[in-house]
Amino acid sequence: MSITAKIKEYALDIGYSKVGIIPADSFPEYIADITNRSEMYSFFAKGASLAAEPRSQMPTAKSIITTVLDYSQKNFPKEMVDKIGRIYQARCYNAPPDRIHGARTQLMREYLGKLGCEVGTGIILPERIVAAKAGIVNFGKNNFAYAEGLGSFIYLTSFIVDQELEYDSPTLEVGCPKGCNACIKACPTQAIYEPQKLNPLRCIGFNNWFTQDGGPVGNFVPYDIREKMGTKLHGCDICQEVCPRNHKNLSAPKPDDEYLVQIAKDYTLPNFLHMTDDFYQTRVQPLMHNYIKHKKYFQRNAAIGLGNLGDPAAIPDLAQAMADPAELVREYAAWALGKIGGNKAKQVLKATLASETSDSVKREITTALLAI
Ligand code: SF4
Ligand code: SF4
Repeated sequence: MSITAKIKEYALDIGYSKVGIIPADSFPEYIADITNRSEMYSFFAKGASLAAEPRSQMPTAKSIITTVLDYSQKNFPKEMVDKIGRIYQARCYNAPPDRIHGARTQLMREYLGKLGCEVGTGIILPERIVAAKAGIVNFGKNNFAYAEGLGSFIYLTSFIVDQELEYDSPTLEVGCPKGCNACIKACPTQAIYEPQKLNPLRCIGFNNWFTQDGGPVGNFVPYDIREKMGTKLHGCDICQEVCPRNHKNLSAPKPDDEYLVQIAKDYTLPNFLHMTDDFYQTRVQPLMHNYIKHKKYFQRNAAIGLGNLGDPAAIPDLAQAMADPAELVREYAAWALGKIGGNKAKQVLKATLASETSDSVKREITTALLAI
C-alpha cells in the first residue's frame, strides 16, 4: 500500500469523514482576495500573507493533507443553539490534545511521524481553499465549505508534511442550487454583501469573540451590530441554518449528546451575565477554549442578549450587573437597560450614574437614558 493510501485509510479510521491531499504550493487567489478587501481584513493582513505561502512557514513543506470532520452527528440542545454556534458546542474548534477532537489531531500527527513525515506545527492555512483544491468540499455563497452528503457543519483540519504524495483534483466551484440566496437574505447584519463575500467586521460571530482588549478591533461592539446580535454569545449559525444544503442534516433524527444535555440547563443569559470563575472554567471553557480569553466578554455578550430580548423581567439582573467589577460589563448592562426601557430601567440607570466612577460607563448610561 502506498504512503498516500495509508494516510487516507488512517484518517478515515480515526473518524475523519473525508481526506484529500494537495501540493504545498502558495495560494495567490487567497491573498488577492484579502488584499482587494483590505479595509475589512486589515486585522488579518499578516496572517493572510503567511497562510497564502505555506513554505514561508515551513520551508521543507511538500504536501498538505486536509480532512473533514462531521461535527453534527449528535443533537444540539435547543436551549443552546440560539446562544452558541454548533461548532463550539461540538468542542472541535482548535481543541486541545486532552479533549477528544484535539486527541484525534494528535493521533494523526503521530501517525504521519511514524511514516517518516516531518509535520509542520502552528501553520496557518486557508483551510476552505485547501479542502476545495483537494476535492473534498465545494463552496456555498455564504462562504462556508460544504462536503458532499454532509453539508457545512464540518470542521476542516490540515496537516502539512515534507513528503511528496499523490494529489487529488480540485472542486473549487460553488455548489448551490440555482437562484438560491437564502443565506444572503437571512443574515441579520448584511455581513454577506454578495455571493462568497463576507465582511467579517459585520459578522455576529466575529463581534462575539474578536472584540477583546488588546485585539485588532478593541472591545467595542458597534451599536447597529449589537441590535442584531439577538442572544448569540459565541458564534452564529443563521446563514447555515437557512441553507437548503443543510436541511436534510438538520432534520435527521440523531442521538443526544449527553454531555451537552448535562450542561444545557446552565446556559441561561443570567448565568452568563453573573458568571463566576468556577462557571467560566467548568461550563464555558470546555466548549469555547479558544478565542475568548476572559469571562467579561461572555458577560458583555449576555448583557447584549438580555437587552435584545427586551423583557423587563431582566432588569434586576442588569441592575446587579451595574455593580460588576468589570467596566465592560457595566457599559453593556447600561446599554441593555436602555434597550429594555421603561421607568424601572430609567431608575436603575439614574441611580447608578450618581455613583459610577468610570467615564466610559457614564457615557453609556447617559446614552441609554437619552434612548428611553
Ligand atoms: S454567521 Fe451570522 S452574522 Fe455572520 S454571515 Fe452568517 S448569518 Fe451573518
Ligand atoms: S442558502 Fe442557498 S445560496 Fe446560501 S449557501 Fe445555502 S444553497 Fe447556497
